[in-house]
Amino acid sequence: MYQSQLFTKTLKETPADEISINAQLLIRAGFIQKEMAGVYDYLPLGLKVLKKIENIIREEMNEIGGQEVLMTTLQNPELWKKTGRWNDQVVDNWFKTKLVGGTELGIANTHEEPITATLVNFVKSYKDLPVYIYQFQTKFRNELRTKSGIMRVREFLMKDLYSFSRTEEEFKKFYEICAESYIKIFKRTGIGDVTFRTIAAGGSFTAGLTDEFQTISKAGEDIVYIDKAKKLAINKEVYTDENIKKFGLNKSKLEEEKSIEVGNIFPLGSKYSDALGLKTKDENGVEKSVIMGCYGIGLGRLLGAIVEVHHDEKGIIWPKEVSPFDVHLVQIENSQKIRKTAEKIYQDLLKTGIEVLYDDRDKSAGEKFADADLIGIPIRIVISERTLAKNSVEIKKRQEQKLKIVKISDVRINIK
Ligand code: ATP
Ligand code: MG
Repeated sequence: MYQSQLFTKTLKETPADEISINAQLLIRAGFIQKEMAGVYDYLPLGLKVLKKIENIIREEMNEIGGQEVLMTTLQNPELWKKTGRWNDQVVDNWFKTKLVGGTELGIANTHEEPITATLVNFVKSYKDLPVYIYQFQTKFRNELRTKSGIMRVREFLMKDLYSFSRTEEEFKKFYEICAESYIKIFKRTGIGDVTFRTIAAGGSFTAGLTDEFQTISKAGEDIVYIDKAKKLAINKEVYTDENIKKFGLNKSKLEEEKSIEVGNIFPLGSKYSDALGLKTKDENGVEKSVIMGCYGIGLGRLLGAIVEVHHDEKGIIWPKEVSPFDVHLVQIENSQKIRKTAEKIYQDLLKTGIEVLYDDRDKSAGEKFADADLIGIPIRIVISERTLAKNSVEIKKRQEQKLKIVKISDVRINIK
């Protein structure tokens, strides 16, 4: 993409009403825009990152047998009354709306009820299970406070998967497979080293314990106690002697950290399937409950967490797999010769499947470098009169100081 054609521009000033680093940097660099408190738009660069994250998650969900659907945002209260969750005391962050005639509707904050009701239509026998269904869908939550930029918002894209199993054992096996899959997702998105599976409470979903995935960060709203060697943590909300012992942890090895909940997986038992009449018959004709689990990742929360973990005073430092582009090609000076050579490098890279943001703007080198640092693409290629004199370009990694002078013909092999 030609940067001269990108409609967004970078901002020099930090928006005065943003206190979180993720929103400050993402707004300044032109990835997102604020509509109002807790409501953000994704602009071209931001959407590219969001889509990369979505694709990583989709690949991993398909890998474990997930089938993708897209459920509606408007929800039928009757389903939620059956599980007791229409009640505003039980789910305290509902957005609800009304039809012209006055009939109430829900606006999706999660999807256990409609997905379970869907399966009632299709699952007739024991042989129809297990089933794993997921989606990328917008959730609305009437959050009381929204101070963490895009990490706590009132409208956000969530990947939510729901598992339906025949037995507790079958469920547990999948639950562990999904936990492993989450670990992979956080590794691929660049926060694997600082993200820990964490024993936690179940909120309005279940009375039992659940597993969160918590990313160490000063920007986090949670407190967790981590055994880094065991790669297991325990959330402060369930930090009791009983739980520490139950999960084989040792108090002296636990380190307290602030952290961001990037994902959460829940054993649901048969709470929702029983309430909504989802049952199967086993091979002896005996009626059986269906055992469920649900598995969520907030895509914007994850994107924000990546920025919180990977930035410096100059801007964002995108991990490779989620960067909006692979390479930032920066042309200094605007002579015919430079333009022509830069254009050739650009086209050659595109041909080999490398995504390039090509800064062809008529701006000073200083401005271009500052923007490149702010936007945070992991590899920068600079072409100027000076490098061209040596038939070369300069290659620099965003997180490193050192420059490499590379012959133009060798660019491709030098940007691994
Ligand atoms: P929190 O405790 O932070 O309010 P939650 O436990 O209510 O979150 P879940 O119901 O577990 O959230 O949702 C699954 C995932 O969706 C979370 O792990 C998080 O990644 C994301 N998420 C939840 N609420 C928000 C929000 N308000 N803004 C952005 N992402 C969110
Ligand atoms: Mg949660």
